[in-house]
Amino acid sequence: MLDSLSSKFASAFSSLRSRGRIKASDIDEIVAEIRSALIESDVAQEVATTFGDRIKELALPELDRVNKSTNPSQGIFEIINKELTAILGGQTRRIRMAKKGPTVVMLVGLQGAGKTSLAGKLALYLKNQGNTPVLVASDLQRPNAVTQLQQVGSSVGVPVFAPEPGNGVGDPVKVAQAGRKFAEDKLHNFVIIDTAGRLGVDAELMDQAKRIRDAVKPDEILFVVDAMLGQDAVRTATSFLEGVGFDGVVLTKLDGDARGGAALSILTLTNRPIMFAATGEKANEFDLFHPERMASRILGMGDVATLAEQAKAALDPDLTKKFEEKFIAGDDFTLIDFLSQLQAMKKMGSMSKMLGMLPGMNSAAMKKQIESIDDGELVKTEAIIQSMTPAERHDVKILNGTRRARIAKGSGRAVSEVNNLVDRFSAAQKMMRQMRKGGGMPAGMPAIPGMPPMPGGGKFKQQQPPKKKSKSGNPAKRAAEQG
Ligand code: GDP
Repeated sequence: MLDSLSSKFASAFSSLRSRGRIKASDIDEIVAEIRSALIESDVAQEVATTFGDRIKELALPELDRVNKSTNPSQGIFEIINKELTAILGGQTRRIRMAKKGPTVVMLVGLQGAGKTSLAGKLALYLKNQGNTPVLVASDLQRPNAVTQLQQVGSSVGVPVFAPEPGNGVGDPVKVAQAGRKFAEDKLHNFVIIDTAGRLGVDAELMDQAKRIRDAVKPDEILFVVDAMLGQDAVRTATSFLEGVGFDGVVLTKLDGDARGGAALSILTLTNRPIMFAATGEKANEFDLFHPERMASRILGMGDVATLAEQAKAALDPDLTKKFEEKFIAGDDFTLIDFLSQLQAMKKMGSMSKMLGMLPGMNSAAMKKQIESIDDGELVKTEAIIQSMTPAERHDVKILNGTRRARIAKGSGRAVSEVNNLVDRFSAAQKMMRQMRKGGGMPAGMPAIPGMPPMPGGGKFKQQQPPKKKSKSGNPAKRAAEQG
């Protein structure tokens, strides 16, 4: 997400950092670099120019002050971070709840923008917060839109109000009205209305959306837009703003190779905040849009807040407590525990996406490393463990050649992969014992917040299993390896 933009920012900052005192000409230079990085990332020209001018306006009077500090480039960096957060909307904007009755959210946007998927994502998000949403199928145009919404609803466990078959049959305005009434009667506190899109902006589309709007009086009209459209996303937004009007924007497909310009231009050009962002096809690849976190990511400061939230959501508190108790009681960490952890990690989403949220991950070299992470590794490791008997999971020492061959066959993996997992798991198990003895975290141990070490999970492809005999100069590591 916004990869090329954040790499360009990283290189602009590293050249600024290499100067000691910062001169006005250095500011001109970094502003020129930032401006061209923004334009290359599809940010509208006028937004890029205004942004650059604003940085100059704010940074130049601060030069004396920042040059007196121990780290002058940091002062400039902070000014840019603040401005970037501001053009992304400043503060996170949440859904406004209706004062009385259900809160009605109407989704508008072009066909293919990701509205139907978004309806499911938003419903799941609201449901996870203790709400009782219902989805309303008012896209009666696009072939199979109604059945798609029904599937989306059932996959996230949210009811779908779909009295008409769609595919050109039925009145979308009546369906929206009846959907609202249904929510009132059945005491759903949120109604999410999926409406029809077209491949391009047209009068009929706008007219239908307006009629639905006037009939149901939504509390929030959300304009859903594909971030990959770049400049076109902003043009479409402007047409919808004039045609129907909307309160907030949802950017979808931010996981793609979107240059991200839409995110940075939309607020300035429509004066409407980005409220949510979707970063994948899965129902949980969606979150509130946090301007300050997005600015941090673009500037390579990471997004530790989101990472921590995802970890908290994915980790079952009972499971975490159980691990802690086992650890304290001196019980061994087994493959059964490891499997539960792998499953929790899978819930957190792609390993490369997670690592991408850590600070300093926007340099080109780091990005290459992250890209080489194989998320399929988790699935393979899980398959191997699942092919083991409970006794084998409990004690890997009983895994002789015959058992290993059977597991390989059962999981469809090579025997060498089974060996590799067992070796790495045994090494991690020894490290855990070492830690318990008070040796602290041994060097080379993957540290994952809130979790014990995870052999196999999300390793770098080129990483090799630990050698049996090491001559490590680090006493903790040597002791750990000798177990
Ligand atoms: P609609 O026509 O606006 O209802 O669009 P859909 O919800 O059917 O989405 C169009 C396509 O985009 C589908 O294949 C979705 O799976 C895909 N899609 C939607 N949101 C995202 C996203 O955030 N990331 C990715 N990679 N694909 C998405």
